[in-house]
Amino acid sequence: MNIVDIIAKKRDSKELSKEEITFFVEGYTNKEIPDYQASALCMAIFLNSMTDKEIADLTFAMLHSGEVIDLSDIAGVKIDKHSTGGVGDKTTLVVGPIVAACDVKLAKMSGRGLGHTGGTLDKLESIDGFSIAVERDDFFKQVNEIGISVIGQTANLVPADKLLYALRDVTATVASIPLIASSIMSKKLASGADKIVLDVKCGNGAFMETLEDAKELAEKMVAIGKLLDRETVAFITNMNQPLGLAVGNSLEVIEAIETLKGNGPEDFTELCVELATEMVRLGNEGLTLEQARTMVEKSIEDRSALEKLEKMVAMQGGDSSFVTDTSKFKDCKEVIEVKLDSTGYVTNLDALMIGEAAMHLGAGRKVKTDEVDHSVGIVLSKKIGDLVEGDTVALVYTNKDATDAIEIVKKAFTLSETKQNRPKMIFEVIR
Ligand code: URA
Repeated sequence: MNIVDIIAKKRDSKELSKEEITFFVEGYTNKEIPDYQASALCMAIFLNSMTDKEIADLTFAMLHSGEVIDLSDIAGVKIDKHSTGGVGDKTTLVVGPIVAACDVKLAKMSGRGLGHTGGTLDKLESIDGFSIAVERDDFFKQVNEIGISVIGQTANLVPADKLLYALRDVTATVASIPLIASSIMSKKLASGADKIVLDVKCGNGAFMETLEDAKELAEKMVAIGKLLDRETVAFITNMNQPLGLAVGNSLEVIEAIETLKGNGPEDFTELCVELATEMVRLGNEGLTLEQARTMVEKSIEDRSALEKLEKMVAMQGGDSSFVTDTSKFKDCKEVIEVKLDSTGYVTNLDALMIGEAAMHLGAGRKVKTDEVDHSVGIVLSKKIGDLVEGDTVALVYTNKDATDAIEIVKKAFTLSETKQNRPKMIFEVIR
């Protein structure tokens, strides 16, 4: 087999065989195929796309490029949840404890934040002592005992994706639906869960800006799941404004804790309840969505989900009293009220700009090696549909000069005289 022929075939919009795709993935991972040929193939895929079968073959080859986690030592159905990344997305911190309280297992490997999107691991590390580096046996033991553990990814999970993603980043081929779908699904499948729930974000704070693109990506990932025998459900959800009110690590954990107590923001609570309901349904054969929703709501009312978070924090070396007393989270030096000069209803609240403002404050990373400041961020007081009449639109939590961040927050708001309805949270569910 010859890589030049494979590139030419995709350049001419022909379907690649499983063998050809495997030859490429193995060759690139082993460094036998150089970057310039891999770049040419990525660009040909970007321009001419791939069939569902090609995407499934690419996913399969990528997932087998490194370690494939076997979760069979954990009893029961293991469900994973993945978000394509957004601003203020602390969903795992709420959905995980809820499903664990409803007897579904979540053995989750999460990532760190980069750019305007945050990462679950950074958020959890705002709790004193919390460790994301857990030995395999302890990870399994914890999930068997309490139903949930969230840890860092093992170093050798889908090495092909690490190489390809870095290459796509510098060759303008990130925004290719077949490449994104195989990148996400290879990591999910290698992580070993039986079933997968995906939260595909759509809007200005997300990878997919239009509903059409988000739907195509969601459908491709559900199709890959089906072809590779792992039931997958995808939610397409709104990321045209930040999720909930808090953006920034400890601020988001506090909001997640409040949500587990039943006091969360409306949009965030709705999303968590719907995602968790789907996961609980998938994890319990024969359960209807209505029955699953009742279980989910009960786990919030009776605080059993909150108790799961407390237990997870304790078992992973963290100070679990942070969950019961959120005043323990490290304070920042200053909290600044942001006000606007104009009056009107909020018609747009740019998620990307709020994410960028949080990054300026130190809540996120510009490059992978940056340290994050857990105590800083933004708490919104107004969202789309709210009236602003000289009152505070956001609080900025900072440890340094926040002039730039405040300017960005102000610019993120668009006001108008006409009231706009609160936007839909969930656009569509693809099963
Ligand atoms: N997230 C991923 O994991 N991969 C992509 O290609 C894009 C978003």
